[in-house]
Amino acid sequence: MKKHIIGNWKMNGMQSHLTEIQKIDEIAALFDNIMTGLCVPATLIYSAHKDKKAVIIGAQDCHQSKEGAHTGCLSAAMVKEAGAKMVILGHSERRQDQGENSRLVSQKADAAIDNNITPIICVGESLAQRESGQAEKIVSEQLLASLPSNKPQKMIIAYEPIWAIGTGKIPQMEEVREIHEVIFRLLTQKYGDAANDYPILYGGSMNGENASELLKLAHVDGGLVGGASLTADKFAPILKAAS
Ligand code: PEP
Repeated sequence: MKKHIIGNWKMNGMQSHLTEIQKIDEIAALFDNIMTGLCVPATLIYSAHKDKKAVIIGAQDCHQSKEGAHTGCLSAAMVKEAGAKMVILGHSERRQDQGENSRLVSQKADAAIDNNITPIICVGESLAQRESGQAEKIVSEQLLASLPSNKPQKMIIAYEPIWAIGTGKIPQMEEVREIHEVIFRLLTQKYGDAANDYPILYGGSMNGENASELLKLAHVDGGLVGGASLTADKFAPILKAAS
């Protein structure tokens, strides 16, 4: 499977940053052995996806319903029409800020799949959970409850320890390897051989320095990258490490 390197721009990015996306696209085109993605704010999806050579544009959320009285929300069909080919779901920031639970994430994954958008389902433990030895249990429970109702054709899982997001801290390599193995095992139990087609990404302070060690680990099929995806200068070394 190709390594998947997907940027998460979170609530960053104005029209003036489209030139940076253009630069990232040009660099991504040099690495045709990598699937490079960028999940941008909804306001940028349309302009960002136009005329891109290599980078695949994604959204950062979608609503679970098809349409209706949900002021301020965007349906999967809407982000798809704007140009998104994938959508981040259940990011820990949304689980925390918007109180999203795994059942809702699963419903959103169904909505994404119904609209032919690849869900990127995020799971990860807090520092307290890691320190009390519960990381594996928490991630397993979150994962199983966040998966879509039916076997999807395309799906991406991102393991993102909450305490590693935006902090500059990352787990021990062995800890990352263990959790990715658990995720792969659960996916295999549920989906059989199809599990081989679902990339499992690591996310949390990935950068040009730690990427190659992380990406060498078994079942680490790529990275979900926040801060280091905001500029081509910081993102390029991660693509290089993955290639
Ligand atoms: C993220 O928010 O998905 C993320 C991994 O952020 P960062 O790389 O900045 O830790």
